[in-house]
Amino acid sequence: MNEELLRSYLDGGISRAVYEKGEEILSGLTEAFAEADRIAEINQLKVLKAMQKNEVAAYHLYGTNGYGHNDIGRDTLEKVYADTFHTEDALVRAQITCGTHALYLALSANLLPGDEVLSPVGRPYDTLEEVIGIRPSMLSLAEYGVSYREVGLLPGSRFDYEGIRAAIGEKTKLIEIQRSKGYSGRNSFSPEEIGELIRFVRSVKPDVIVMVDNCYGEFSREKEPSDYGADMMVGSLIKNPGGGLAPTGGYIAGRADLIERCARRLTAPGLGKELGASLYATAPFMQGFFLAPSVTASAKKAAVFAAALYESLGFPVHPASSMQRNDIIQAVEMGSPAYLEAFCRGIQAAAPIDSFVRPEPSDMAGYADKVIMAAGAFVQGSSIELSADGPLRPPYTVYFQGGLTWPHAKYGILMSLQKLVDAGLTL
Ligand SMILES: *Cc1c(COP(=O)(O)O)cnc(C)c1O
Repeated sequence: MNEELLRSYLDGGISRAVYEKGEEILSGLTEAFAEADRIAEINQLKVLKAMQKNEVAAYHLYGTNGYGHNDIGRDTLEKVYADTFHTEDALVRAQITCGTHALYLALSANLLPGDEVLSPVGRPYDTLEEVIGIRPSMLSLAEYGVSYREVGLLPGSRFDYEGIRAAIGEKTKLIEIQRSKGYSGRNSFSPEEIGELIRFVRSVKPDVIVMVDNCYGEFSREKEPSDYGADMMVGSLIKNPGGGLAPTGGYIAGRADLIERCARRLTAPGLGKELGASLYATAPFMQGFFLAPSVTASAKKAAVFAAALYESLGFPVHPASSMQRNDIIQAVEMGSPAYLEAFCRGIQAAAPIDSFVRPEPSDMAGYADKVIMAAGAFVQGSSIELSADGPLRPPYTVYFQGGLTWPHAKYGILMSLQKLVDAGLTL
């Protein structure tokens, strides 16, 4: 028993019983934590090597304004992303608003009227429903005459190869594969599983474009979907690759011809990648990318700890604490709105910013159900920072993610349990 540590937690509003429960669970996680560190080492060297190869220099960290012509820092950052992810090119911009925008950009830049996009992994992330036009929306792909098809997963989150083969046709131009489970009950896919799916779709239609929604997946494993043949990989900088420092932004890494189309969609035909002032973003983008492997490891430790803790209390958790992790998301079925809200209030109460705020369920742009969100973050809405959210629908699953540092994540998770205990849960 570490009396000084216990005293710190007691001072921080954690009861002795909750602290001791946490320590008991942690003692069984030595191997999982060592695995997270091993992967962080591999990815740290990957990022470092890309920075050294491209001779990142002090003067690269200054930004440009106006048109942003000859922005060598921005261009070098994009080369660092491309080399880290082993792709031909990358677009990494503050002008990309968020993950949804990056995905819309990649899709709308590479699909023309009459083309079809196919999701072979079931319904995509909630905000993509309006992007694609699954839920009718102004300026959706559907409005531009791009059609959509999906093939659901088989039990056990297995790919329905026969269904996929049947769904790929003349019009199928682009296959969208979402790595992370999002707000669904399926598994998140490993880069290897995604690679297997890519090989299959290529065997049916060799020239189909494969785009992977890599949100939350970056650096959680040794390799990325781009190492297994994805033509484009898309994500948000206020998730893993921003390392907690990126103040905004998104990225698309992949084949040079496809990235060029994305750049022209972001700016204008004839302008493409040449324009777009980086302002003050290059330094935090570069430094955040450098920190991202170890920040992602902290977030993975947080996810494993939360899984093991809530598993031991009888809550269904997904993935199980013992499973290989392919992203930083941990889902816990809270079973009731009261427990979902208590969990989120605990995460909020443990935050460095806005700890005094009480999260309430509310309507969110892009989401069909009311959502409760806990995010006491330095960067608004950042979900590489310790955060939790869940749609108000049975079984009241909380999706928990992030943690810039492991000590903060541990405190947040203990506080979530404390709030559940205060709401009537017995340990
Ligand atoms: C977060 C997320 C998105 C959307 O990103 P935003 O930055 O919230 O717009 C898309 N797909 C998946 C799987 C995500 O996790």
